[in-house]
Amino acid sequence: MDYNCVECGACCATFRVDFHPSDGEAQGGRVPEGLYDELNGSIARMRGTDHTPPRCRALRGCIGEQVSCLIYDERPDPCREFEAGSDACVRARRRHGLAESA
Ligand code: SF4
Ligand code: SF4
Repeated sequence: MDYNCVECGACCATFRVDFHPSDGEAQGGRVPEGLYDELNGSIARMRGTDHTPPRCRALRGCIGEQVSCLIYDERPDPCREFEAGSDACVRARRRHGLAESA
């Protein structure tokens, strides 16, 4: 099955996105300041991903139509590791009423 992420974006509006604060710009990492919060010494979180409903502050566009990540080249590791077609991907797509393939 093919999953076209630029016509989806469901995962960016479903899951909390946490990473180590050392990956944030404030500590010399790549994730730009202003888009995440340092919760403690070991967790930083993309803003918006723990809101109800969740939606990452870096996500642009309309879910299920056309989306982009404002910081694609600087996105944190969980975003890089998330696999299109995985169980979590399918769950996110279902949550947004999208078919299991795109
Ligand atoms: S939910 Fe799956 S298909 Fe949609 S953007 Fe995320 S990885 Fe891509
Ligand atoms: S940083 Fe980009 S890829 Fe990661 S959740 Fe936010 S919008 Fe999606």
